[in-house]
Amino acid sequence: MKLSKYFLPTLKELPKDAEVMSHRLMLRAGMIRQASSGIYIWLPLGHAVLKKIEHIIREEQTNAGAIELLMPTIQSADIWKKSGRYDDYGAEMLRMKDRHNRDILYGPTNEEQITDISSHYFKSYKTLPKILFHIQWKFRDEVRPRFGVMRCKEFLMKDSYSFDVTEEDGKESYNKMFLSYLKTFQRMGLKAVPMQAESGPIGGNLSHEFIILANTGESKVYVDKRMLELNIPESIDYEKDSKGTIESWTKYYAVTEDMYDEKSFEKNVDEENRLVMRGIEVGHVFYFGDKYTKPFNANVQDKDGTISPIQSGSYGIGVSRLVAAVIEASHDEKGIIWPESVSPFDTALINLNPKNDELVNICDNLYNKMLSSQTVLYDDTSNSVGEKLTRMDLIGIPKQIILGNKSVENKTLEIKDRRSGETVIENIDKFLEHLNNDKPS
Ligand code: ATP
Ligand code: MG
Repeated sequence: MKLSKYFLPTLKELPKDAEVMSHRLMLRAGMIRQASSGIYIWLPLGHAVLKKIEHIIREEQTNAGAIELLMPTIQSADIWKKSGRYDDYGAEMLRMKDRHNRDILYGPTNEEQITDISSHYFKSYKTLPKILFHIQWKFRDEVRPRFGVMRCKEFLMKDSYSFDVTEEDGKESYNKMFLSYLKTFQRMGLKAVPMQAESGPIGGNLSHEFIILANTGESKVYVDKRMLELNIPESIDYEKDSKGTIESWTKYYAVTEDMYDEKSFEKNVDEENRLVMRGIEVGHVFYFGDKYTKPFNANVQDKDGTISPIQSGSYGIGVSRLVAAVIEASHDEKGIIWPESVSPFDTALINLNPKNDELVNICDNLYNKMLSSQTVLYDDTSNSVGEKLTRMDLIGIPKQIILGNKSVENKTLEIKDRRSGETVIENIDKFLEHLNNDKPS
């Protein structure tokens, strides 16, 4: 993409009302624009990152055996009356009426809708297990939207729902989603710590929030530091690896404020391993058995002919919140530093002097060749050198290829690593040779 043709409305001034770094940087980098309180426009650069994050989540859900569908944003109030949550949900739910005066709502979540689906299709044990997911916009009329897309009213969520015949199988589905979350966040360059969360009436410890440690986070967390050393296997076999991995990740003490108990923290964690911090919730896994399937009469017949409610769980990831969370975890005083996996472009190409025709030819040629193996943001604008370098550092593409007048005489270019700031000078022909070798066949 040539920057002269792109739409990248970066800001020079510090946005006044943005309290946290990720919000400030998203506004300055021209990623988002507020449409109204808690509702945002995703400008092209922000949209590109959102799509990258969505893609990783989709791949890992699919790897874990989940199947994608798409449910509507608008739901009928009837299904929420059936579960009893129509009244319970309160003011966060955006309620509307259609022209026939029927109650409808903009979905804040989808347990009701998906349970209704399960009641129609999953009647025999032969159709189960199933994990279904979708990636869809949600609306919650948050009382205090803040921190940009971190807590807003309209946000993109990935939500999955598992359906099993027995509680034992249901827990297996839970474990698969748990492991898939570890893998998903790792691919985004994030260390998300699973913490025991309020599990509701079903008891046990079958609810975990995945939290990224950050001082600007809204949740206070109490963690055994040893958890931060844990890793997951490079390649995962979801059928074989889920249970063992989850056991090693849940043996340490890690809870959010709701579950915190001073005595058990002190009993379970040696003083040198106690970490009290703040964090950002990016995902939540929840096993609730027959809480929704019972009122919906979503019953399944097992092998012996016994009919009982389907066992269910739900698993959410804040797709749009993650864009901000990645920035909170990866930035410096100059701007954003995208992990390669979520960067809006693979590489930035900067021509420092577009008035030099020879240099333009070299850069155009490089750009065209690079495009066959990667996505490139090519700064071909006539802005000043300072503006170009500052802007590229701000928007955070991890690798920058910089060419100036000297590139013509010396036949060299500069490769800059955005994270370390280190630069390497390379011969242009050599660079092109590498490009050819790296090209996907
Ligand atoms: P929170 O405690 O932050 O309000 P929640 O428990 O209400 O979250 P869930 O219903 O579990 O959230 O939703 C799944 C995921 O959706 C959350 O883990 C979070 O990442 C994201 N999310 C929830 N509410 C918002 C919001 N208002 N803005 C952006 N993302 C959100
Ligand atoms: Mg909430």
